[in-house]
Amino acid sequence: MQSMTKLNEAEAVALFGNRFLTEMAPSTAFPESGMRPLDALRLVGAELTMEGDPQRNLATFVTTWMEPEAQRIIAENLHRNFIDHAEYPISAEIEQRCVRMLADLFNAPGETTGCRTQGSSEAIMLGALSLKWKWKERRQAEKLSADRPNLVFGGDVHVVWEKFCRYFDVEPRIVPLSENKYTIGPEDVAPHLDENTIGVAAVLGTTFTGHMDDIVGINELLLEVKKQRGLDIPLHVDGASGGFVWPFLYPDSKWDFRLEQVRSINVSGHKYGLVYPGIGWLIFRETADLAKDLVFYENYLGKTDATFTLNFSTGAAMVLAQYYNFVRLGRAGYTYVMSQLQENARALATNLRESGRFEVIGDELEQLPLVAFRLAGKNNAYDESDIAWQLSAERGWMVPAYTLPPNADKVKIMRALVKETMNREQVERLTQDIADACKTLDHKGGATQTEREKAKTGTGY
Ligand SMILES: *Cc1c(COP(=O)(O)O)cnc(C)c1O
Repeated sequence: MQSMTKLNEAEAVALFGNRFLTEMAPSTAFPESGMRPLDALRLVGAELTMEGDPQRNLATFVTTWMEPEAQRIIAENLHRNFIDHAEYPISAEIEQRCVRMLADLFNAPGETTGCRTQGSSEAIMLGALSLKWKWKERRQAEKLSADRPNLVFGGDVHVVWEKFCRYFDVEPRIVPLSENKYTIGPEDVAPHLDENTIGVAAVLGTTFTGHMDDIVGINELLLEVKKQRGLDIPLHVDGASGGFVWPFLYPDSKWDFRLEQVRSINVSGHKYGLVYPGIGWLIFRETADLAKDLVFYENYLGKTDATFTLNFSTGAAMVLAQYYNFVRLGRAGYTYVMSQLQENARALATNLRESGRFEVIGDELEQLPLVAFRLAGKNNAYDESDIAWQLSAERGWMVPAYTLPPNADKVKIMRALVKETMNREQVERLTQDIADACKTLDHKGGATQTEREKAKTGTGY
């Protein structure tokens, strides 16, 4: 018979192994010594059990589900640095295939250029830099000053556009929204254009309500300005979300290179491109739309390489995953997926409207697969932020409530993204959970100010 042994502490830990049952997690000083892999795994794993569940995150536009085969490609290529073009020429070639396919999807007239980016933010920074440099070239060719560039866009843009202007010293000319108009059109843009305008940015699928700016109208305005005033002002389309929705749901709606002044387009592969985070795209109409001065040549890796990026090293996995989706789904597959999302969004919109509590915003227009809604009529006991908070507390759904940008900022709305993680069963469950949250609030009234602050989940870009 084995005798009872008294274990010292190290032996006990080695045997029963979970040191963080009683110890706090390292969080300030750089750790002096390490720990066993199992301990590290458990430590991180335990932290993440308190993290939000991506399945219930209806705030984000970013992909929360991919096929197992795509996940396998990602897992098998995590060790591949995308920027090592000389060492990994196949990844570079696959990037170029994706660029050509997107140019085709966006109806580019001929040979074009573009690149992968970390997301639409990097793509927008690069695209807008190219606008700035092309404008400078035009000004200098005419011996005119090029020190006061401006960029025109609506208040419905993503924060990255203002960031660009501040980081790269361009005057933002922001067209405010109004209380019942959440996108912009040519009449809004016209007064802001002059010889120092490097470009106009229009949104295809706004972050706020999922609608498009009047891109056709803005294109016509810019053509008119070119004819009348000799100013050739390019139009950049921010298709972060819409670039993978419109070509499939609304193929006859023009917003892309079919319109003459549209010179560049960005799109997030990790939104409706259906890839996990870390991939975006910038596509130019023609090779000449990329300012040559922004391309750098280096030969660190044994072969001269042209780069046009803000980042340098980054993974190749998401580029490969994007290509997987393109060949796996094709136009037919993307059309099918987007139609299903739209159908579920419509089902949710119908449910919310029929509940009598809500009005749905703009679902009769071309829109991303989402539901933007707000309380119908006057309800003084609680507002949309209270519902967001209650819904999250009761059922863990993340559905943000937020005010629209100026001058529509008196309007508060909620927005539920419908992605591949949301099946019809869950549409019905969410409907019921929203009704239950409202019933709770009918009894107890709205949240305290502190709870409200906590419930400020942002718009979840
Ligand atoms: C999400 C989004 C961005 C930012 O894109 P990332 O891919 O998150 O960097 C820019 N513009 C719009 C309209 C967006 O929806």
